[in-house]
Amino acid sequence: EFESVGFIGLGNMGSRMVHNLIKAGYKVAVHDINCNVLKKFSDMGVSTKETPFEVAEASDVVITMLPSSSHVFDVFTGPNGLLQGGNLLRPWLLIDSSTIDPQTSRKLSVTVSKCILKEKKDHWVNPVMLDAPVSGGVLAAEAGTLAFMVGGSEEAYLAAKPLLLSMGKNTIYCGKAGNGSAAKICNNLAMAVSMLGISEALALGQSLGIAASTLTRVFNSSSARCWSSYNPVPGVMEAAPSSRNYDGGFASKLMAKDLNLAAASAIDVGRKCPLTSQALEIYTELCQDGHEARDFSCVFRHYYSGMDE
Ligand code: NAD
Repeated sequence: EFESVGFIGLGNMGSRMVHNLIKAGYKVAVHDINCNVLKKFSDMGVSTKETPFEVAEASDVVITMLPSSSHVFDVFTGPNGLLQGGNLLRPWLLIDSSTIDPQTSRKLSVTVSKCILKEKKDHWVNPVMLDAPVSGGVLAAEAGTLAFMVGGSEEAYLAAKPLLLSMGKNTIYCGKAGNGSAAKICNNLAMAVSMLGISEALALGQSLGIAASTLTRVFNSSSARCWSSYNPVPGVMEAAPSSRNYDGGFASKLMAKDLNLAAASAIDVGRKCPLTSQALEIYTELCQDGHEARDFSCVFRHYYSGMDE
């Protein structure tokens, strides 16, 4: 149903997502504040725009993939932002795939719903925003196998699904606006804590004389099995980042970022989350110790295996 797709934020994830949109046959217009990145796209023959507003003017739907809440806020509401047209917006759908806090997603969704469309599209009178953060890193973005967790109007979600599936292999509808963002930070909170649990158990096992490879086999055929149980000890799983000096994978700094969002959201709703606070402390320290670019499973080597030495 969409022909012209705007895309803003051509970083590690966004640049790869755009390639998949182009492969799927969409007419794409892109923007990034980094001129070098933008030039790469114009050299490839992709239509590039100077501002988010110009992207909006050229598109039926706009996707944003930006570092954090403040960038998303600026791109939507700043000078020359997507909503600068205010009362006369061309795209009827704005999809934010950045990982941000649910509160910002909800605020923006209300702001977007108050704008009026330049041209009526079917029964859509006002534009709609979906929060649609992704699970899966750079490799999944490149392969087009991301999972999108989507919050906002269900009707808009169904309309957006084919577009999202051109960049991913799964979409999960999570309910009202902000629920996609909530799902994403809760998923990563669970993953952060499970990695700490698996690392601590493997370290204790080693101290008790069980080889990490044996204990991993036990975990992976017993009740401790989880995504993290495949990961943290070098040499146990050949394909895991731990076996290539924790290269690639999901960077510790992104995990710390997502835990910050979870911690801030917990405060916002008045929920006590003791493991969130502790995990945030540990991953923050890991980054400060210089491991911010390494896969977050390196928390094993730097905090747990050290207990043996
Ligand atoms: P990145 O830093 O590589 O890319 C962000 C891009 O946004 C950059 O090119 C930057 O120049 C651009 N940008 C920043 N401010 C801008 C503005 N005001 N206007 C236009 N462009 C602007 O980040 P990334 O790794 O691609 O991640 C993007 C989002 O996806 C983040 O929210 C991140 O948490 C989330 N995410 C990342 C991964 C991953 O593995 N990298 C996985 C899942 C989710």
